[in-house]
Parts: sequence; structure tokens; C-alpha cells
Amino acid sequence: MSSDLNLKTIIGLEIHVQLTKLKTKLFCATSADYRGGKPNTHVCPVCLGLPGTLPVVNRKAIEYAIAVAKALNCEISDKIMFVRKHYFYPDLPKNYQISQYIGPGFESIAKNGYVKISVDGKSKIVRIRRINVEEDPGRIVYIGSIEKSPYSLIDYNRSGVALLEIVTEPDIESPKEARAFLEKLMAILEYLGVTDPGLEGAFRVDANISFEGFGRVEVKNIGSIKDVEKALNYEIIRQKRIILQGGKIERETRHWDADKGITISLRSKEFEEDYRYFPDPDLPPLKISKEFIEKIISSLPELPDERIRRFLKQYGLDEYRATVLVLNKWLADFFEEAAKIYGNYKKLADLLITDFLRWINEYNIDYRKLKVKPEHVVKILKLWDDGILSVKMVKEILPHVVRDGVDVEEYIKEHGYIRIVDKNYIQEVVAEVFNENPKAVQDAIENPKAINYLIGLVMKKTGGKADPQITREIVLEMLNKKRDTGS
Ligand SMILES: [Zn+2]
Repeated sequence: MSSDLNLKTIIGLEIHVQLTKLKTKLFCATSADYRGGKPNTHVCPVCLGLPGTLPVVNRKAIEYAIAVAKALNCEISDKIMFVRKHYFYPDLPKNYQISQYIGPGFESIAKNGYVKISVDGKSKIVRIRRINVEEDPGRIVYIGSIEKSPYSLIDYNRSGVALLEIVTEPDIESPKEARAFLEKLMAILEYLGVTDPGLEGAFRVDANISFEGFGRVEVKNIGSIKDVEKALNYEIIRQKRIILQGGKIERETRHWDADKGITISLRSKEFEEDYRYFPDPDLPPLKISKEFIEKIISSLPELPDERIRRFLKQYGLDEYRATVLVLNKWLADFFEEAAKIYGNYKKLADLLITDFLRWINEYNIDYRKLKVKPEHVVKILKLWDDGILSVKMVKEILPHVVRDGVDVEEYIKEHGYIRIVDKNYIQEVVAEVFNENPKAVQDAIENPKAINYLIGLVMKKTGGKADPQITREIVLEMLNKKRDTGS
């Protein structure tokens, strides 16, 4: 069906990222570490929006925002301005959200940036329109699903937690690019140490998707990168089907149902929403000095693009391998630890980004709780290099090492994984096999295809531990001798 329609896909993303590394909320001293707490226990008059309270900006949040802005190549504003964004929602105690806005007389903390991504070996730039610093609303808790819940509960623990709203230009042209962009963005934020993407609700994505010349649909509040890709794929098929049938794409807001893997219409989009933005009188504009910005920029850590470049130079990896490692920060750290004691960097990288990563995912292991240490993986590689382990054995042993962090040498001893490379020993076994099977030896002299049967007998006698390559060489040698002597 998709081939019938050659339409340009236009995707823009709006990402809400919690600055989870902050100890307190954006405008008060209430603890921002609300996860796992009883509902409505992490609250104070400020974050509940009670009359007469005054917000005070969390300086650290501004530092983080400036670091992110720089890492996303943005122009950084020389003043901080906050606006009130008015709308009614049960989880918004003040009936307005303190946010930022770009418009006449208004400025966001940063704008006009970009992120470089790479998809199928091609580089591409996704522009960043703006970054806002804003407060998170509370949370509406539904019983069961959003559609079936008989009532809703409200938890204000999240209310006032510092968010960055990062908005892209509609430069993304496929769900795959959206995924690559988000992976890169989250890696940058993780390297900056401003958020922990592994925490539930730490980031949420609104995705706008349309076909050139058709109406735009917004899918709200998608909770994971994988789900963004799935939701966009779903929307592409749904919208194409409507267009093919001659229908009209309604401008609307949809909800992504991750369990069912579908989007559901929430409401038709009011055209330009009237939020009645106006400057927050409690938070007058604040100058940001050049020195302040420069101090933050000078203390930025190594970021993914720099690390990828370093990996190319220092370890001689190609861009693909370096990128996969670097975008999984913990895996890149693991790689660098292992590379201190193992010099075949390409072989190490290959094992880590294929089988190793596969088992981590298959066992659903949280990388923060890894039992396997870099030295375990290096031991496997060294035994493999020495010919003591075959590829097949490496693949059999690796999952146990990954899951349990077992000592490889002990494990292979216990499970009889030692591979026999001792030529004298193999020669003895081959001689035994020849003596016991004169008919098979005669067959092999006449028909080279029958050699495998003899090799199989040797393998059987050694419990599968003889090195197949060496065994083959010895069997051939001894057959040649027999043929020459005619005995
Ligand atoms: Zn508070």
C-alpha cells in the first residue's frame, strides 16, 4: 500500500525531560525525588500553588539548562524570563504553568540549535527550535486505563519538578530518524549528568506527524523511545489508509496506547490554543552574565560526538561501532575498562555490541546491576585467541558470564569446556581410532568424503573437546602415511 503513495512524511518532536539529578523542585525546596513516595507527601505551599506563596528559581536548574543548550548547539539567551501559561487541567493547581515562551517581548532560555544524527550510515541535522525551562504538573492517576477509569486521582508529588521542554523543527522524515534523534538526545543528556533516562516518567515525548499537504496529528505523552517509533509507524499506516480512501486527516490530538499498540483520538485540536501567556509577575527577568555561561560551558564533560571522534582515533574503530558504544554510555565505559587490559579493540567492540548486548537485553539486566566485569569478558577473549575456546564455546559460555558474572576459567573447568589442542594427545586418540576401525580407514583412503566419519569418532572419544582443525590435520597426515606405505 505504501508504494502507491509517495508522500513526504513530516515529523516534529517535543520532548519533556525531567532534570532528575536536581535535589529540589524548580521553584521551592521540596525534594524532587518523589518516586516511590506516598501520593501528595512531596508537596509544599509553593508547589501546590497556594495563594501568597512566592516561587524562587532553582539556580542549579538554570545551570543544567545552559549546559544542555550548549550541548545542543543553541543560542543561549542573556536573560531568564518566565511566563504563565494558562489552561485548566486537574493536575495543575494554579490553573497556570510557569514556563517560557518565544514571542514579542518574550524569550526562552535557548533557541536555534541542532543535533547531528546518523541513520543507515547517512548523517543528518535535526534543528532544535527552542528549549524552555518549566515546571512539571502533577499526575493524574487512572484506575485501569484512561478510557475505562471510573474516576481519576491526583498526585501532586510531581508538581513543580524541573522540566526542560525541547522542541525540534519538523526536520524528521521517518520513525527511524525519530528514534535515532531521541537516542542521541538522551545520550547527550545522560553524558551531561542532568537526567537519568532509566527512571519512569523521566522523559515524555509528544510527536507531531503529517504528510506534506495534509492535516497534522499530535500523539501525546509517549513514554519510551521504542514507543515513539511504534506510534509513528502506526500513524503512518493509519493516515495513509485514510488518504487512499479519499478521506481527510483531522487535525487532532491522539493518545498512544502502548499495550494495544494503537493511537486513540483524544480530542480534536482547537486551532491555536489560547494560553493567554503573560510574564509571571512573581519572577521578574534575570540577567545571565557571560561569565556565568562561560563558566558552565568550560566545565562541560566529554559529549557523545567528541567521544565518538576519540574512539575512532584512540581505538581505530569505525564510525558505526564507535557510535553504538558511545550512545550506550555504560557500554562505552565498559569497553574502555576492558580496553585497558585487552588490545584487540575491534574484536572487543564486536563482542560487546553483538552477543554481549543481546544477552543483556534478553535477560533484561539493568546495567547498573551488572555482575559481569570487563575482566570476565577479556578472559573469554584471551582464551578464544589462544585457541582454547572455539567460537561455538564462546557463544555457549557468554550468556552465563553475562548473567552471573562467573569466572570464565573456573566455569570452563567445571563444565568440561577445556578444548584439547595438545597434538601428541590427539595423535594417540587418532591412532586408537584407526586401530579399532580398519574398514573406515580403508574407506577414507579411497574416498576423501569418508574422512569426516573418522574425525567424528575422534571427537566422540574426546567428548567433543579435541580441536576440530588440529584433528583434521592429524587424520589427513596419518591417512597419507598409510596410503604411501600401502599398508
Ligand atoms: Zn514545594
